[in-house]
Amino acid sequence: MEIIVGSNSGFCLGVNYTYNRAKEEIEKEKVYCLGEIIHNKQVVDELENMGMITVLSINDIPKNSRVIFRAHGEALQNNIEIIDLTCGKVKIIHNKVLKEKDDSFIIIIGKKSHPEIIGTKGFCTENCYVIENISDVEKSYKKFIESKLNKVYVISQTTFSSSLFDELVSSIKKTFKNNEIKIDKTICKATEKRQEETLKLSKKCTKILVIGSKNSSNTKELYNIAKNNCNSVYFIENEEDVLMIQFEKDDIVGVVAGASAPKSLIDRITFILEEKYK
Ligand code: SF4
Repeated sequence: MEIIVGSNSGFCLGVNYTYNRAKEEIEKEKVYCLGEIIHNKQVVDELENMGMITVLSINDIPKNSRVIFRAHGEALQNNIEIIDLTCGKVKIIHNKVLKEKDDSFIIIIGKKSHPEIIGTKGFCTENCYVIENISDVEKSYKKFIESKLNKVYVISQTTFSSSLFDELVSSIKKTFKNNEIKIDKTICKATEKRQEETLKLSKKCTKILVIGSKNSSNTKELYNIAKNNCNSVYFIENEEDVLMIQFEKDDIVGVVAGASAPKSLIDRITFILEEKYK
């Protein structure tokens, strides 16, 4: 059995920064985290065991406390000390939006419920719309007409599907054909590389293992890409998931992992594969 581990698997620079900085802050004194710091249960468990307290609402944070923002942070203002660990690439998007928001109708291509998108929306005026699929394009146009603006500025969630972004943009161009449109494909390079690598591997492997959490947007995207090209694709959240799979001697197994999957988990999974099935 051949095992090919994607070279772009695991923590991206932004997640790595958040993880290391969070550990530093936890070691200093008690700290809360608003929402899941990184979309990976093992990582959250590790940081919580060190003392971090995850809360789902700002109302659950006592006064005079310290709170960490997750990798894709939200714009909040209150008296609590904020430790902003938002990835620098996401901050660049916030600044772009701040520059454009008064003159342009902002279209954000991404998942409506994703924390990064909720955060970016916080930097827009009410003249914005989140497009997640083709049916949203027409709805965004109606809102654009109501805004009485003439220009449109389109950005993307950093971890969105590159191919779906292109598809949605061509629909936007048709719908807004009489208006000035500026397209800014703000998908993170780390995300694009990971998606391209998954596409290549899924075309040549007999089985693909996608390591990461099912609530991680970029990991789900890798799963979808692989599924379109390979019949046997498995979501791997922990070691037990690998033990459930039946491998054949002539299998070529591709291993990819989302940006929030720690290297230690990828190593443990590949170790099991090598030990048990090689
Ligand atoms: Fe930052 Fe890109 Fe990682 Fe998102 S995927 S945290 S934008 S480096």
